[in-house]
Amino acid sequence: MAAPLSVLVTGATGRTGALVVEKLRQRPQTFSVRGFARSPEKAAQRFGSPDSFFFGDIRQPETLTAALSACQALVILTSAVPQMQGAPQPGQRPNFAFAPGEPPEVIDYQGQVSQIKAAQAAGVEHIVLVGSMGGTQADHPLNSLGDGKILIWKRKAEQFLIDSGIDYTVIRAGGLLDQPGGQRELLVGKDDTLLANPPDGIPTSVPRADVAEVVVQALLEPAARNKAFDLISKPEDAPGAAVTSDFKALFEQTTPGL
Ligand code: NAP
Repeated sequence: MAAPLSVLVTGATGRTGALVVEKLRQRPQTFSVRGFARSPEKAAQRFGSPDSFFFGDIRQPETLTAALSACQALVILTSAVPQMQGAPQPGQRPNFAFAPGEPPEVIDYQGQVSQIKAAQAAGVEHIVLVGSMGGTQADHPLNSLGDGKILIWKRKAEQFLIDSGIDYTVIRAGGLLDQPGGQRELLVGKDDTLLANPPDGIPTSVPRADVAEVVVQALLEPAARNKAFDLISKPEDAPGAAVTSDFKALFEQTTPGL
């Protein structure tokens, strides 16, 4: 029997990252999983113990070295997180800002580039990067949050990964939902066409649990290698929706390049 695939998940105490760690841990014969996170307390709170976690900060690339040593695959699930400033006033849009020193240029671009370079130095063979739909739209509302241009920086990092020469899978999710996975038909696209023109006007969203499953399947399925795609889901009760179970067929609909 082949040895389990050694995988590091960054952003492992984040909402989707933790789901990926859980799913990988459920298959110990297939995966040997490590998490990378900033806070031992948060890791212990989420997982009961910080075992198999490495702690550091993607702004300090040297903290990634031990975590990536002898790893075959890297799942990047770090992200800058805009924080609402004060209580929203009636009739006014809430104000958002990023934590000092943590704007998207630093976290979503430089921080992802650092992870890709560290992975390359460690001999990692495959990187799965979870990003966001909307990166082709400079005027997307998320870009103005905290004046961070978050989708623009995420897309630049995706291009850096594609140009790196390491096998890649770029998953650009629609709006993330905290709902059960495995109950929806998943749809893939490219260049934000699903965002501009969703079939039957469905919401352009997808449960975090389904994104996590797509990450796991991408680690296993050769048809996911060197592909970048947008990902949304049909609502559970959409007429004619068929729950996605054939991930090879899903990945075969996706294409290489940004
Ligand atoms: P999340 O919960 O916001 O997690 C982000 C993770 O990044 C956290 O674990 C955080 O660590 C980590 N992180 C941030 N800065 C770091 C640093 N300097 N060093 C190490 N780790 C750092 O993520 P999510 O909401 O599940 O989203 C997953 C991905 O999907 C993100 O790329 C997000 O932008 C994208 N996306 C989101 C939406 C949406 O609707 N929200 C839609 C589409 C795509 P801590 O745990 O310590 O905070």
